Amino acid sequence: MQEEFTISTGKKQELIDITGKISSILKKSKIKNGICSVFAAHATAAIIINENYDPNICLDLLDALSKLIPSGIWRHDRIDGNADSHIKSAILGPSETIPIKNGKLALGRWQALQFCELDGPRSNRKIIVTIVASN
Ligand code: ZN
Repeated sequence: MQEEFTISTGKKQELIDITGKISSILKKSKIKNGICSVFAAHATAAIIINENYDPNICLDLLDALSKLIPSGIWRHDRIDGNADSHIKSAILGPSETIPIKNGKLALGRWQALQFCELDGPRSNRKIIVTIVASN
């Protein structure tokens, strides 16, 4: 099964926990075992798995990316000023695939699914969830 949803973001860069939303889509699917793909359909956003217990780790990740990939120094900045957002998005990647075991996402104790906004704020970020059953 496949389902799409959109989220709004409120900052230039932020991480938004979508684990609960993905878990509710999985529950609706009634699939017990298989894989769940979560895909962000954008060139300036990403999907990652990261710790969510300490909110500082989310800020640390964004700070680390900004230190590695400063803004305003790239060729694409002459077009629309967001080359750093595209580079961060490409490095992090648009999707994650999570195993499903006994009807649940088989995430580790400290793992959470996060949508990464890298060029916000935006009102209409599309996420596509595809759930495929195994035996
Ligand atoms: Zn651009």
